[in-house]
Amino acid sequence: MTKFKALGLNETLLQAITDLGFETPSEVQEKAIPVLLDEETDLIALAQTGTGKTAAFGFPMLQKIDVESRTTQGLILSPTRELCLQITNEMNAYGKYFKGLNVTAIYGGASITDQANKVKKGAQIIVATPGRMKDMISRKMVNISKIEYCVLDEADEMLNMGFYEDINDILSHTPDEKNTWLFSATMPKEVATIASKFMYNPHEITVGTKNQGSQNVSHEYYMVGARDRYLALKRLADYNPDIFSVVFCRTKRDTQKVAEKLIEDGYNAGALHGDLSQNQRDLVMKSFRNKQIQMLVATDVAARGIDVDNITHVLHYQLPDEIETYTHRSGRTGRAGKTGVSMVIATKSELRKIKSIERIIKKEFNKKDIPDGKAICEVQLMSLANKVNHTEINHEIDPFIDNINSLFEETSKEELIKKFFSVEFNRFYNYYKKAHDINASDKGSHKEISAESTRFFINLGSKDGFTWMSMKDFLKAELKLGRDDVFKVDTKNTFSFFNVENNHAELVLQKLNGIKVNDRIVSVEVTENKARDRGRSRNRNRNKSGKRFGNDGGNFRGSKSDSRRGRNSKSDRSGKSSSRPRRSRR
Ligand code: ADP
Ligand code: MG
Repeated sequence: MTKFKALGLNETLLQAITDLGFETPSEVQEKAIPVLLDEETDLIALAQTGTGKTAAFGFPMLQKIDVESRTTQGLILSPTRELCLQITNEMNAYGKYFKGLNVTAIYGGASITDQANKVKKGAQIIVATPGRMKDMISRKMVNISKIEYCVLDEADEMLNMGFYEDINDILSHTPDEKNTWLFSATMPKEVATIASKFMYNPHEITVGTKNQGSQNVSHEYYMVGARDRYLALKRLADYNPDIFSVVFCRTKRDTQKVAEKLIEDGYNAGALHGDLSQNQRDLVMKSFRNKQIQMLVATDVAARGIDVDNITHVLHYQLPDEIETYTHRSGRTGRAGKTGVSMVIATKSELRKIKSIERIIKKEFNKKDIPDGKAICEVQLMSLANKVNHTEINHEIDPFIDNINSLFEETSKEELIKKFFSVEFNRFYNYYKKAHDINASDKGSHKEISAESTRFFINLGSKDGFTWMSMKDFLKAELKLGRDDVFKVDTKNTFSFFNVENNHAELVLQKLNGIKVNDRIVSVEVTENKARDRGRSRNRNRNKSGKRFGNDGGNFRGSKSDSRRGRNSKSDRSGKSSSRPRRSRR
């Protein structure tokens, strides 16, 4: 606390800081606060997310403005609604002992009139997203001609999101004498341009190295085959029972798909992407903050506003195109002095990208293996054992204990423990006993791909009147199998592909070969996974036997599969096994 005092902060702030439980200033606070308090200067501060930037500009701004006046004196621009609200909350918490303080948040997707009214009551500080701010300036709902301090928070993100013009426009309505404080995690060209255009002789602060990730984050990668990404994700989650994570995907579609699959498989997961309504996004974020969601699957754009503390893992389901995006992603963990892990699920072709990320962030990745079934069972059991050990007894169960006791009269403690843990163990054991190694080597391409299911070729296609859906129905009926037992059905012109679990493979050959459909004799064959996989990189259209197959032997990605997003697509896309363990909801 004395350390905060030494920075020059006044009693009103110190009291709030005590309430907040901050003990020592963070590095960026230590460097920025004295300068901003003492001097009327422009400032550029480069620091990662989670380093306490809000207080670094918030404390000095609060101390310097005049709360007795109702003129708008401070403007904070930030990229997203989410951040905007968060900064407003923080500012109100820091300024709770300033009587008459009015910090107003301005952002899209909420009533503009309400926001204008709040400003009119005398907002000394406005926290705004650029789009809505510009709108309100043009409607004369705000007056920023007298501001003294202007903060550009997460400047790199704002520019990434295309707010350059808006920021230009907004700043043109502010007085030249104001001080501009720019905060950014990275320093791309665009930020430098803004700085040179709008700032005069700025004081510069760097925390850590430019473009370098948080020191508290360790980086790992796991090498798998492209189609084992989801399996890998699940195993990593199962191996970390207390995971609280953001899972990044590259597209909205993958984001939605991965989240749906996780939910289907019993994980506490949720999706966050731009196709959701603001309301849906708010709900997801609320559940995430409350930790009802343990795995938040998100696109880069949607995740921009996420500043949630205590995230244990950032998972890259796929790597981003831009290396700076990697820095932003991994900065979601390791915040506020905590440690975090950034895990990349990578394929062989992404190894080079990992090497270039290493150079930029100046940190090495640890290559790790996807844990095997045994290791996962062990971790899950120990986690349960610890949970049992730490559970406080709920005496509401006392009345039932007699009955339970009589059931176990003959059972020794040792036996009872074994039985109890078997309940949990069997679930994972049954799923993982057949699980194979999905680690891919960095070198050879001889790795066997997923062996849990078998892929078949059948000589019936759309020419015979089938769509993938009717083909699926046909197969289900002929084989007398359930809804989820036939999957990854791809119907081409004269033939189709589909998968069944290995234990149904024999059945497929027996039941289908030789039957007649529209006077055609049906023929099914097992496709050769290995050949197909290699064919992908070498000779895309041929399998080992030289027979011409469709572009990628089935399993479409991209636009084509959009047409399959019908009501049945759920069962089609997961290729799931009925013995998959469901995670108990916590
Ligand atoms: P940034 O803007 O750099 O991403 P924030 O300002 O959002 O970081 O701060 C991250 C978290 O750290 C917040 O929960 C904040 O309340 C907390 N925090 C900030 N400064 C301190 C401090 N000096 N001591 C302890 N916690 C702090
Ligand atoms: Mg911030």
